[in-house]
Amino acid sequence: MRDGANRSRLVSIVVPFLDESESLPRLWDELAASLRDRPEAFEFVFVDDGSTDDSPEFVRALAEQDPRVRLVRLSRNFGHQAALTAGLRAAAGEAVLSMDADLQHPPQLIAPMLERWHAGARIVQALRQDGPGWSAKRVLSRGFYRVFRAVCGLDLPAGAADFRLLDRAVLEGLLRFREPPFWRAMVHWAGFRQEVVRYTPPPRRYGTPRYTVRKSLGLALEALFAYSKAPIVFLWTLAGVAALVGILGVLDALSAYLLGTAERGWPSLMVTSGFLGAAILASLATIATYVERIHRVVCSRPLYLTRPEAPTQETGADGQQPSDPPAKGL
Ligand code: UDP
Ligand code: MG
Repeated sequence: MRDGANRSRLVSIVVPFLDESESLPRLWDELAASLRDRPEAFEFVFVDDGSTDDSPEFVRALAEQDPRVRLVRLSRNFGHQAALTAGLRAAAGEAVLSMDADLQHPPQLIAPMLERWHAGARIVQALRQDGPGWSAKRVLSRGFYRVFRAVCGLDLPAGAADFRLLDRAVLEGLLRFREPPFWRAMVHWAGFRQEVVRYTPPPRRYGTPRYTVRKSLGLALEALFAYSKAPIVFLWTLAGVAALVGILGVLDALSAYLLGTAERGWPSLMVTSGFLGAAILASLATIATYVERIHRVVCSRPLYLTRPEAPTQETGADGQQPSDPPAKGL
């Protein structure tokens, strides 16, 4: 336990939203009811991801009544992951909990998540458990997690949505990433003591999913290229196969030459084209390997994160203090 007198520490609730004017008032009521008796101090960071309805007005009115509420407005729709990043950057809490605005992330789960944090967990991930039935999005989601685990080597659990609590020490390390964020994988990558709470999401009460199948596919491709070397391994394999075929061609051409059955010029043509193909593919694979290394450096993923021993002596990524301003830009 590292709570004791610290149970009143500040906790941020970060909610990115896009056109959620129907859900937000209900969410606010449910948040208020679920957190009323909690010992922690709360702030609420709502991030408007380019809404065209009057949901930002609702949050603005809320912020005027309640100083714990803040509104961050993006200049247009940048996508949920970018909006989430904006909210996590703006949050000041010792723990930062992110959740969706559409009530599919039940606010009643926040209390048990906070208890896990007080008991020492640095990351508390809410894991979605799907009930029976299927939809295109669900099939896509399951397929994505399967492919992701197979090609990226990160054992990302299915159903890990962006409903989670991050301790400040974890967040400071992850805010150093400069690449387009995919929080699920970043959090998994972070290590630390992670705990899981499970929930079955209720169906969306209002409106249609803002995360369209197209947006989900875009995110899936982004994640696969960010965390996988599979395309480069494929290029190297192709170069190897081409070289093998080239060698077989040489042997065939050589035997035909020695037996005197080859057309004049044919053996040299086979040898040249076989090896040229392999050489071109190997060169491409070499360039791709270097580009991947450059990509890794440009993304400035920390080499490692350290576990703070006590909340007062926290060190962030690469041993730097978390009070350093986080890197700007995505
Ligand atoms: N959202 C967002 N920007 C987008 C799409 C979605 O901020 O471009 C928000 C949305 O308002 C909700 C959360 O992200 O609070 C999850 O979206 P949604 O419920 O549509 O996704 P699903 O539950 O279907 O995965
Ligand atoms: Mg939803």
